[in-house]
Amino acid sequence: MEQTAIKGTIFDIQHFSVSDGPGIRTTVFFKGCPLRCKWCHNPESYVPQTQIMYVSGKCSLCGKCAEICPSSCHSIQAGNHRYQSEHCTGCGRCAKLCPAEALTCVGQSMSAGEVLSEVLADSLLYETSGGGLTLSGGEPMLQPAFALTIAKEAKANGLNVCMETCGFASSEKFQEILPYIDLFLYDYKLTGIEKHQKYTGVSNELILSNLALLDSAGKDIILRCPIIPDVNTDDDHMEGIIQTANQLTHLREIHLEPYHNAGVSKWQNLGLQELPALLTPPDTKTMDSFARRIAAGTQKEVHVM
Ligand code: SF4
Ligand code: SF4
Ligand code: SF4
Repeated sequence: MEQTAIKGTIFDIQHFSVSDGPGIRTTVFFKGCPLRCKWCHNPESYVPQTQIMYVSGKCSLCGKCAEICPSSCHSIQAGNHRYQSEHCTGCGRCAKLCPAEALTCVGQSMSAGEVLSEVLADSLLYETSGGGLTLSGGEPMLQPAFALTIAKEAKANGLNVCMETCGFASSEKFQEILPYIDLFLYDYKLTGIEKHQKYTGVSNELILSNLALLDSAGKDIILRCPIIPDVNTDDDHMEGIIQTANQLTHLREIHLEPYHNAGVSKWQNLGLQELPALLTPPDTKTMDSFARRIAAGTQKEVHVM
């Protein structure tokens, strides 16, 4: 089998992206994430399998999805459509049949070769802007062989390659892929093992050791720090960002990403039962003060995204 025949699951390919690394980029979103951040606005990235997204505003209540679904995920009750995703196998039959386009499949299986052809189509744009390819998710390192093949081939074609990662993946797999990645956009979400476990579902020990590994391998790093009201806006965390940044030799910048709640409707559309807590996004003044404090403590460029 040719290496580029390897398949993976992705949920989006975004062209002309300007916030996922230098220049104009194509960002490939891998499906599947090992974390469950309480503020996540990308629940469609959680599971590696294809899922169904239901948009109630488009539904004509024709009932065809309820008739065809082998897992009884859809039902029409008292003039309302009900979608429960627990037993969905991702077969896609309901989305194909829906006459109103109220149902769509999130996630598709693609070969590395197919992803690369789509990415390489914009090569001229990368040359003129200093951009390239960004692997994102979800978590690209949850599909390590697929990510490695794409990164390797992209480098062989002369592209700049970035990876956005939460860092929770095997250190050996990071070792394998790092020669083909120019810049890591690396998440630093919470300070302290227990707090990290509480709000993301995993400890941060492996994440921090992988961060040190990438830095000691000489890789350029941008730290990406989500700022979540009442979760990580305390002094301890601000000092945690500063201390972590100051331990890195190859840190280029720090990006602060203020919480937003734009993705909340996706939870309902995916038929997920548990909804995330709704928080008030931090205001510009607060974000600017965090940025000034971190810039003063690190002497690095800090950007509010
Ligand atoms: S790492 Fe990102 S995609 Fe995964 S749960 Fe957290 S916020 Fe969502
Ligand atoms: S994709 Fe899921 S909801 Fe749709 S028909 Fe298949 S099992 Fe049912
Ligand atoms: S097939 Fe589409 S339009 Fe018909 S009930 Fe199902 S979601 Fe609604």
